[in-house]
Amino acid sequence: MPFNTKFIFVTGGVLSSLGKGLASASIGALLESRGLTVSLQKLDPYINVDPGTMNPFQHGEVFVTDDGAETDLDLGHYERFTTATMGQRNNYTTGKIYYSVISKERRGDYLGGTVQVIPHITDEIKNCIKGVADGVDVVIVEIGGTVGDIESLPFLEAIRQFRADVGRDNVIYIHLTLVPYITTSGEVKTKPTQHSVKELRSIGIQPDILLCRTDRFLSKELKAKIALFCNVGVDAVITAKDVGCIYEVPLVFHQEGLDHKIVELLNIWTRAPKLDTWEEVVRHFKEPLHDVTIAIVGKYVNLTESYKSLNEALHHGGVANRSKVNLFFVDSEKIGKDTCSEVLAKADGILVPGGFGRRGVEGKICAARYAREQGVPYFGICLGMQIAVIEFARHAAGLEKANSSEFDEFTPDPVIYLMTEWFDERTRSVQHRDATSEKGASMRLGAYPCRLTAGSLAHRAYGSEEIAERHRHRYEFNNAYRQRLEEQGLVFCGTSPSGDLVEIVELRDHPWFLGCQFHPEFKSRPMAAHPLFRDFIGAALAYSRRRSAA
Ligand code: GLN
Repeated sequence: MPFNTKFIFVTGGVLSSLGKGLASASIGALLESRGLTVSLQKLDPYINVDPGTMNPFQHGEVFVTDDGAETDLDLGHYERFTTATMGQRNNYTTGKIYYSVISKERRGDYLGGTVQVIPHITDEIKNCIKGVADGVDVVIVEIGGTVGDIESLPFLEAIRQFRADVGRDNVIYIHLTLVPYITTSGEVKTKPTQHSVKELRSIGIQPDILLCRTDRFLSKELKAKIALFCNVGVDAVITAKDVGCIYEVPLVFHQEGLDHKIVELLNIWTRAPKLDTWEEVVRHFKEPLHDVTIAIVGKYVNLTESYKSLNEALHHGGVANRSKVNLFFVDSEKIGKDTCSEVLAKADGILVPGGFGRRGVEGKICAARYAREQGVPYFGICLGMQIAVIEFARHAAGLEKANSSEFDEFTPDPVIYLMTEWFDERTRSVQHRDATSEKGASMRLGAYPCRLTAGSLAHRAYGSEEIAERHRHRYEFNNAYRQRLEEQGLVFCGTSPSGDLVEIVELRDHPWFLGCQFHPEFKSRPMAAHPLFRDFIGAALAYSRRRSAA
């Protein structure tokens, strides 16, 4: 079949965490800045069918798409750096590929043939890649893991074959490696790069472009040496220099000539890149006019990877307010009634993010209480909204033992509970959840519509009455308590269009206190901060000003 779409495959070598996801996203940004349309895809070598079941400590955040896919966090970078919308088709794992092939085998689709890695698994992979190509100029496919891993072999074999399938001019391979600086000898070393490229060539892939991750710009001589040993053009050796702010990566790549080289190799004519919006974002990041401190009270406090989109959204909120955002993480297991005010004293705003399980919940409740009583801006996301409701029920509405049935199945007042029957706006049908197997109960996943009450904080932020936001949770607000909590000053200002599901709560007498059942962080962009993050940071700035004036 003839293909008009061009394909860029991004692989990585030497070690993981070199920033392949950011590199792929930045390539997307650069191509869009030249007026091309792009799509991105991540192929992950692990066996889990999706990352939904993996520990965020190990794997980082689970990124949720509009269509309800639980995906790798790199898809978050793709959406933040480009205008492409990610979905189920943009992330495949080995598990998902095999699952599909095995299901076909069980159905008898292979007519008694022997099912093998080549061609059945590799064909399946190639079809998945083609599945995102429709209607876009360039598809950027990132292969997870590093070259040399046993698990990534079928993916590498598939992308090797791909070039022959769609034509040499339509495919390039970009390889990201490490060029370390060795302090003792005062030199940068190219050997790891040479070995990594050798490894890639041994499976039949000759990279066209090398992205060399390093802490300094590589000299012409060094680039020439790498070019010679790795069999690429000197102008195809790109310094992927460490940067202070991730939104600088497209600019550094551009300076190094990456987008120019890509369009040359792929034989595409484009306009000159327009990068002014990126330059402005980076300038705002680097030259803030104000300063604000936000406490994130959560469980996975050691790894910023677990809250990737959240961190980014907070910084976007900072950019929108020309403010630097200092984040400090508070382990909710380490705070209680007595220590809370001391630990949170320096916070201009308190954020309780999403989470699962009972651990650390009481500390989060203390933090929400402190924010409510002291007038500190509070932003509760998903679990953070549920925490705010529990806290309010206990300390403002006199339901001392109120809880979520996720944390206490025998609570007399389950203000948050597992709704067994509800109307699903996406499928427009009544859905059932089985309360007897809570962990196995299905989650509400992906984008759902929400109607806002005029005059609320949320309504003012969004500037619109109907919004759609992404969900990933099982438990919901229990409507049996709506009236009682409302009478005490909790405002239910966002609900599903049918009114059944509570999506946003606010406090009547508080400068800025908002909890939402969805995850707004997934839709924030560096040049267009999410309205709730923008206003939360704005409220925190106002709080810090009031505090220093007092
Ligand atoms: N554990 C809660 C639930 O399942 C909240 C989930 C979340 O914060 N993502 O409803």
